[in-house]
Amino acid sequence: MLSTKGYAAMAAKASLQPFTFARREVGAHDLLIRISHCGICHSDIHQARDEWGISLFPMVPGHEIVGTVAQVGSAVKTFKDGDRVGVGCFVDSCRSCPACREGVEQYCERGALWTYSAQDKEGRLTQGGYSNQIVVDEKYVLRVPSALSSAGAAPLLCAGITTYSPLRHWGVGKYHKLAVVGLGGLGHMAVKIARAMGTDVTVLSTSERKRADAKRLGATEFAVTSDPQTFMKLRRHFDFILDTVSAPHDYNAYLDLLRTDGTMILVGAPQAPTPVAAFPLIFCRRRLAGSLIGGIRETQEMLQFCAEHRIESDIESIPIQQVNEAYERVIKGDVRYRFVIDMESLA
Ligand code: NAP
Ligand code: ZN
Ligand code: ZN
Repeated sequence: MLSTKGYAAMAAKASLQPFTFARREVGAHDLLIRISHCGICHSDIHQARDEWGISLFPMVPGHEIVGTVAQVGSAVKTFKDGDRVGVGCFVDSCRSCPACREGVEQYCERGALWTYSAQDKEGRLTQGGYSNQIVVDEKYVLRVPSALSSAGAAPLLCAGITTYSPLRHWGVGKYHKLAVVGLGGLGHMAVKIARAMGTDVTVLSTSERKRADAKRLGATEFAVTSDPQTFMKLRRHFDFILDTVSAPHDYNAYLDLLRTDGTMILVGAPQAPTPVAAFPLIFCRRRLAGSLIGGIRETQEMLQFCAEHRIESDIESIPIQQVNEAYERVIKGDVRYRFVIDMESLA
């Protein structure tokens, strides 16, 4: 077994602390990856605090991982030592169900193996990217294009693909009006990516604080959701709404902002449910939908798209010793727009 250093939550709501644990030896199809950077996703916080009620402890969070291949298994074909690579939210899946065969492994019918807080075939807990190394089957590893910096690319492995995938799936493009609700880690990636796809983007944010940033990131409009006027003015205005909000909020008010046949896509995953009324859906034949990250093939496509359009995440780099403070700042909305842990700080 490979002795690995990281930071873990030992129980729900406990602060993260230094933690040494064992990774499996490098198998024939595996890569050993030395992690250089890992983003902090709001899902890490939901999970470390067991807000979704599915957490397994001890937990080393982190699923926005970038690093360098340090060793390859005997049967590895597509990677070599020194390659810059990424790992996202899952590290395996059944490989034979219709979803896996189609390349949407995140929807694996037997359940994708999540990068952390999950149990692998041998019954071991998976552990994530707030650590110095990880062992992953080459089929679940992404190539990071040379045009992207490691720190700026790390958040693409979750925030990037989670926003890219629904925009592609629903064919959001040039002639559409899109609202992005919540300008956080996911939201700021959604603005950049949708803009590069030629879409007209409006940011719906809880306060005035991020107006200038929204424009800089590529939004054409910005509106504040604490102002009731916003919901009057923008009634029946959008073809799509991408909701990235991490806390419970009233979906019904947003549904009214869709045109006939408009679609509201939830990617934000609040811990508590929200009642949805029939009327905002019935009138205007609207749809309420959801989307989960993206498959391996599409994640690679997204990385290429971001390299071509020079899209990276706006990041604040931190040493791992500041991870607990960073969690508090994410919850307060005090990050522009993603914390990325510089893993050299673990040494
Ligand atoms: P984040 O950086 O904290 O951003 C969330 C944003 O939501 C905040 O910046 C804020 O934007 C807005 N917000 C927060 N509380 C709000 C409230 N009570 N009412 C209205 N708006 C509020 O989080 P993130 O990392 O982008 O993640 C967002 C959510 O997506 C989380 O629930 C996460 O678990 C989930 N997620 C889902 C997937 C998936 O596959 N579906 C993947 C990754 C993450 P403003 O300041 O602009 O109001
Ligand atoms: Zn995530
Ligand atoms: Zn499967």
